[in-house]
Amino acid sequence: MNKMTVKDVDLKDKCVLMRADFNVPLDENCNIRDELRIVSALPTLKYCIDNGAKRVVLMSHLGRPKGQVVEKMRLRPVAKRLSELLDMQVLMLDESIGEAVEQAVKTADEKIILLENLRFYAQETKNDQDFAKKLASLGDIFVNDAFGTAHRAHASTEGVTHYLPSVAGFLLEKEMAFLGNVVENPEKPLVTILGGAKVSDKIKMIENMMDKVNCFLIGGGMAYTFLRAQGKPVGNSKLEEDKIDLAKGILDKARQKNIEIVLPVDNRVADKFDSAANIQDVGEEIPEGWMGLDVGPKTVNLFKDKLKTAKTIIWNGPVGVFEMQPFAKGTQDLAEYIATLDAISVIGGGDTASAVRQFNVVDKMSHVSTGGGASLELLEGLELPGIAALNDKE
Ligand code: AMP
Repeated sequence: MNKMTVKDVDLKDKCVLMRADFNVPLDENCNIRDELRIVSALPTLKYCIDNGAKRVVLMSHLGRPKGQVVEKMRLRPVAKRLSELLDMQVLMLDESIGEAVEQAVKTADEKIILLENLRFYAQETKNDQDFAKKLASLGDIFVNDAFGTAHRAHASTEGVTHYLPSVAGFLLEKEMAFLGNVVENPEKPLVTILGGAKVSDKIKMIENMMDKVNCFLIGGGMAYTFLRAQGKPVGNSKLEEDKIDLAKGILDKARQKNIEIVLPVDNRVADKFDSAANIQDVGEEIPEGWMGLDVGPKTVNLFKDKLKTAKTIIWNGPVGVFEMQPFAKGTQDLAEYIATLDAISVIGGGDTASAVRQFNVVDKMSHVSTGGGASLELLEGLELPGIAALNDKE
């Protein structure tokens, strides 16, 4: 990544305006269910403090309040957890801009201040320049460490870069080092596992990665559109009728280019989308009235065989409905197998990241992305506006 980072600037006595991604899942009592995104911001935050920053003003969004104040989407639980993790007081403000905020930034005793949920303001997602200017006035330098929103040109990711020197934090740098590298310059053989609900979400990625990948392993709901494209019966499985021709095109192109596409050869099927459904294990063909919700053991072995010689593995999308225990085995077996390999393993964010966390193998992967949408867009070959806007290295 040819962008300046916090290491390239003098932070001494500066007020750092830092965009973090604290969009963590909360339960109904506003307890944090998964703190990975908070923990991931700590290295940059500590570096700023240790290198003499006068203050760090943190900004983030949480959920989708759509320009309204939503009490359950306040960032207070994040401020509390940050205080505990840093062993330092974090001042939580009730707003993101305005006089009270400006006053606090000038006079507070606390070194770390967290602004209220940016998406309580409609101007944030509209990249309103006036709003961006007000945010920018709170710091001397802008640090973007929010990889999860780097694919959005919002006031706090792109807008503020017009008014302040702007650099990347360590999380952004790490995400780019792994994801950018597997796209630009992967060590071969590169095997990509694709799963998840829909083919339509992954088409651009397949097209972009087609010239780089040696083998695609396809499972999850999206596999059934490919199986149908081969003329196989898929019962009531997830199927995108309007994408069957596209799937055919992808299969043909891969054949011409000598790229392997491996589809499920056996399946765990259910008579409804429910963990209490009737379940049976079948081969490649799904019986009428049943839906494929996980890959079977032969498929897992086939996938393992392709993975064992890979130098790089990219995994985007679970190969079954892993959230329901009866359909979790395929995803779990693959996660546990990849954990034993020496290959560079890069896990796209979102559901695949949740799956590797659920199966306790996060530490065994080379990189688990904190950004679902952002990692997908990178794999699609797109430029991320929140990164493009940062200052280039000299
Ligand atoms: P995505 O966000 O596209 O990666 O999709 C992730 C979701 O796909 C997860 O919530 C899985 O439960 C779901 N999924 C995986 N396999 C299947 C399947 N065979 N049928 C329906 N949904 C699936």
